Amino acid sequence: MRYSEFFLYTSREVPKDAEVPSHRLMLRSGMIRKLSSGIYEWLPLGFRVLKKVEKIVREEMDRIGAQEVLLPALLPKSLWKETGRWDLYGKELFRLKDRKDSEMCLGPTHEEIITDLVRSYARSWKDYPLILYQIQTKFRDEIRPRFGVLRAREFLMKDAYSFDIDEKSAEESYWKVYEAYERICKRCGFIYRVVEASTGLIGGKFSHEFMVIADTGEEEIISCMNCGYAANMEKAEFKIKDEKWKMENEKEIEEVYTPEKRTVEEVAGFLSENKNKFIKTLIYESEKGDFVLLIPGEREVNKKKLDDYIGCETKLASEDKIVEITGSPLGFAGPVGLKKKVRVIADISIKGVKGAISGANKKDYHLKNICEGRDFVADEYINIVKPRKGDKCAKCGSEIVISKGIEVGHTFKLGRKYSEPMNLKYRDKDGKEKLVIMGCYGIGVSRMVAAAIEQSHDEKGIIWKLPLSPFDVEIISLNYKDEEIKKVSDRIYNELKEKGIDVLLDERGVSPGIKFNDCDLIGITFRIVIGKKLKEGKVEISKRDGSLKLEVNEGDAVNRFLEIYEKEIKNFSV
Ligand code: ATP
Ligand code: MG
Repeated sequence: MRYSEFFLYTSREVPKDAEVPSHRLMLRSGMIRKLSSGIYEWLPLGFRVLKKVEKIVREEMDRIGAQEVLLPALLPKSLWKETGRWDLYGKELFRLKDRKDSEMCLGPTHEEIITDLVRSYARSWKDYPLILYQIQTKFRDEIRPRFGVLRAREFLMKDAYSFDIDEKSAEESYWKVYEAYERICKRCGFIYRVVEASTGLIGGKFSHEFMVIADTGEEEIISCMNCGYAANMEKAEFKIKDEKWKMENEKEIEEVYTPEKRTVEEVAGFLSENKNKFIKTLIYESEKGDFVLLIPGEREVNKKKLDDYIGCETKLASEDKIVEITGSPLGFAGPVGLKKKVRVIADISIKGVKGAISGANKKDYHLKNICEGRDFVADEYINIVKPRKGDKCAKCGSEIVISKGIEVGHTFKLGRKYSEPMNLKYRDKDGKEKLVIMGCYGIGVSRMVAAAIEQSHDEKGIIWKLPLSPFDVEIISLNYKDEEIKKVSDRIYNELKEKGIDVLLDERGVSPGIKFNDCDLIGITFRIVIGKKLKEGKVEISKRDGSLKLEVNEGDAVNRFLEIYEKEIKNFSV
């Protein structure tokens, strides 16, 4: 591609509403253009990258024997009614009516549609196992579309669905896709972690999220560098570091006067006690009932995990409810002497605590010397506080690392969640009808493009790793008007193209400064600079990430480049 003919418009302007680097750089480099909130156009430069991601994803899905289909995006309400999701999905579902007033939606995901497809053909045990997938535009009316294509309202997803006749085979299908996703991440050059994810109401241990590590990620994950354990916040299991608050004090309970002192901070200050002696007692309400939660005074509740554990959204109770449950106003709740019998859940670290301080369930009073076991017992003990730096891995005891990540893929064993309501059955060898076991697997093709940039950029622009680079190499021809420079540039350009290399030749009549700035911004992995040094017969080959810079004879340039290129490719092969 000759730059002067390329539909490419870079910009120096930093877009105002773009909060993260990938969003800014994709707009500035002319990869995408915003049409409307959460809706983007992919321009030639960006589309090249999108197609590269798509190709890797397709190759890896095909490799595990998955078969590609293309389902409609415009979907009838009837199928969504069968599973109840028409009503459950809420506002994220784009709903519309056709001219006959029939209700329809734009597909945010395709479980219903694919289940309907499979049930209309695959009726015998011989038709399974089966994995179908598609790469298609999805629509979700996100509450807060942001970060460009990372959280868009229209985006490209590869969604796959597995169908099996028994648990064993379903698990095999699950791990096949899991491995395909690992290969996809490696081939894209991602630094990533696979984390155990919550399976919500379905249960089981078959859900994983593929997280690309990035400071701007919306997800928090914990991982252990020693044993490889990794989980997202909803599932995070760890041991809290600071156990010293488990004071060995078995004295009698003592009631102390703490007028108007309600928070751990206030009471600790007032009593001149260490904050790490406190048990924080929180009263919650939820659709599944009210409950009391006990955590160490200095810690915070892992809200996502709590909701997941309870099985619905939870919230801190109203003042009235607090009075009803504890018999005192807000700020004096404690595990001993609650007025009403409710479910009591404690953080696992509360187990064995002696000599703790908490509210007395009486206005203006707290209790000292509380011992777990002696003075109260919780109904359940779970790991429910947020992890902190210094906490330990639950599996091996090494220190955990907390990082941020972008979820690019999600694998999920569905079981019979869709086959049951939609009656997807097969006839077994003995003639009996049984429900099919399903799995679903999504990977965000367009999100991956932005995730790659989040992970690899500098203040000048994008730094593409070779597998996703929009071109393999950019030739910067510094003075294309010069006969000799033009001749050599054209020759190298044509020879590389003949060898199957994707080349962008910047032969524009603009200043070297503009050319270098654009080249840094667009971030193509390799560059070949043809300029003044040509007088000595030399051209320069370099890498955008700064790891390579060498002068070669112009006559050797093509061969030297091909050598370096082949070596680089190997770094990403699986
Ligand atoms: P998130 O928690 O980020 O909203 P999700 O759990 O809704 O993601 P899934 O339904 O599992 O996502 O979809 C599969 C994949 O599709 C995600 O892992 C992600 O890569 C991609 N994806 C989901 N929502 C969006 C979006 N709004 N914009 C771009 N990609 C998305
Ligand atoms: Mg979502």
